[in-house]
Amino acid sequence: MDWVDLRSDTVTAPTPEMREAMAAAEVGDDVFADDPTVNRLEAMAAERMGKQGAMFVPSGTMGNLAAVLSHCQRGDEVILGDQCHTFNYEAGGIAALGGVHPHPVKTLPNGQLPLDAIEAAVRSEDVHFPVSRLVCLENTHNRCGGAVLDETYTDSVGALARRHHLKLHLDGARLFNAAAALGVPASRLAAPADSVTFCLSKALCAPVGSVLCGEQDFIHRARRIRKQLGGGMRQAGILAAAGIVALEKMVDRLPEDHRRAKDLARRLSKIPHVTVEDPSPPSNMVYFRLSDDARLDGTGMEEVLARSRIKIHSVSARRIRLVLHYWVDDEGVVRTAEAIRSALA
Ligand SMILES: *Cc1c(COP(=O)(O)O)cnc(C)c1O
Repeated sequence: MDWVDLRSDTVTAPTPEMREAMAAAEVGDDVFADDPTVNRLEAMAAERMGKQGAMFVPSGTMGNLAAVLSHCQRGDEVILGDQCHTFNYEAGGIAALGGVHPHPVKTLPNGQLPLDAIEAAVRSEDVHFPVSRLVCLENTHNRCGGAVLDETYTDSVGALARRHHLKLHLDGARLFNAAAALGVPASRLAAPADSVTFCLSKALCAPVGSVLCGEQDFIHRARRIRKQLGGGMRQAGILAAAGIVALEKMVDRLPEDHRRAKDLARRLSKIPHVTVEDPSPPSNMVYFRLSDDARLDGTGMEEVLARSRIKIHSVSARRIRLVLHYWVDDEGVVRTAEAIRSALA
């Protein structure tokens, strides 16, 4: 019996087709912009995001960092959500490596930052204050249960940013999931953003890599920052080849993961001691809580499920996140729900 691994969509191993494409990839030295496979991936990514240019990076973390450092000078301020990935899970890189000052704003449960809170965070001209330079949004929103920001909201943040002469960066690690959930092109969601990152290595199954997209002069600056960060790679076409398969073959199937997330949430919501946070989850994540009188806490649940060859991730004492992806099928969903039911019985 195979493992069902629901800890994250980052656990997705490359598909056989990706491995073949990697083995056959035509390569060159990408630091000389000489790798035809990287160049092709970057052109595809730029087109998908509706931007002039794109840059392949080893990780989403580096993509966001390169974006912030390309938009901001030392001492500048970035307005971002207190629940977002960049503020919580990127090891403080924007401050540590860029001297960029984070200005966190309270995140609503639907992943949005209230417009008036963003507006209130914008600094006026005063020597006491840092200079406001950038706003960041996250779509889908990881800590908010895979919440989807729609184009109306994103457009209004874009308009607000422009009104205050700020740039807008979109952390779209799972932007294709948002696009699938809304039935709009990813480029529509990225339209008001000056820059956008998306991950190839999550639900799209590629082994490594993200892409940062933006206008030509921004990407030009970002290439120098990537070099500074040690992210200039050589025959990176081996990796980009999997990314091309990811864009061509894995985007259109994302609604399957969303359907399974809803199915799993529905099954879990019938189990005593389980409270599903959103019984109809918006994308590929299901968050649930174990009641205080449940037999197991999150860690206990991890251990018990591992005996049935199911891996899950407990994000805090009694809160668990399950993420659907390419390598979890309908049978895996049923097996997981049943294993959780019996573990709590
Ligand atoms: C995973 C993730 C990242 C970072 O990607 P890595 O490739 O793991 O560095 C950035 N933002 C969000 C919302 C993510 O989920």
